[in-house]
Amino acid sequence: MRTRRLFFALWPDDIQRDALRSIVEALGPVSAGRPVPTGNLHVTLAFLGAVAEDRIPSLRNIAAACSCPAADLVFDRIAWWPRARLRCLEASTLPGAFVSFAQAFHEDLRRAGFKIERRPFRAHITVARNVPSAPSDPSTLLAPGFVWPVRGMALVASTPTPDGSAYEVLERF
Ligand code: ATP
Ligand code: MG
Repeated sequence: MRTRRLFFALWPDDIQRDALRSIVEALGPVSAGRPVPTGNLHVTLAFLGAVAEDRIPSLRNIAAACSCPAADLVFDRIAWWPRARLRCLEASTLPGAFVSFAQAFHEDLRRAGFKIERRPFRAHITVARNVPSAPSDPSTLLAPGFVWPVRGMALVASTPTPDGSAYEVLERF
C-alpha cells in the first residue's frame, strides 16, 4: 500500500498569506538557516507522518466531524527552538475553544489509530529552518501580535524535494 506523508494544518488564504509575507519580511532576514518560502507558511495542527492511502477516508471523516471553531489566534512571540533548530512565530496564549478543539481532534485521531505527538500543542508558524543559534536581535515580542483568523483547517501532503518539502492541500474542512 502506498503511503503519503500527511499533516493537518491551518492553511492561509491568499489575503492571509500576503499579510504573512509582510510580517515575515518585517522580521528581517535570518543570518543563517533556510527561510520557509511564503507559499509554505502554515500552522501545523496534527502531524501524522506516513499514512497508508486507504486510511485517508478515515482522516476525512474525523476532520469533517470535528469542526474547527472560528477563532482569532494571536502570534505575539518570535522564538527560536534549539532542538528543532527553527525560528517561528508563536502564540503565547490561545482561545480556550481552540485549545479544546485541538485536544479533542488529537484524541479522535489517536482513537482511530493515528500516532499523534503527546507533547502539548503549541501553535506556531515556522519562518526558517536549520537556524543554528538564537538571532542576535534580543527582541522576542511581536507588537502588535499577528492575528490569524481561523476559519477551518486543511489536510496537507508533504513531499521531499531537493529544495525542501513541497506541500499539497488535499482537502479543506
Ligand atoms: P523539511 O522536513 O523538509 O525540513 P518540513 O518539516 O516543513 O520540511 P515535514 O517534515 O513534512 O516538512 O513536516 C510537515 C509539517 O509537520 C511541518 O510543519 C513540520 O514542522 C511538522 N512536523 C514534522 N514532523 C513533526 C513531528 N514529529 N511532530 C510534530 N510536527 C511535525
Ligand atoms: Mg520536517
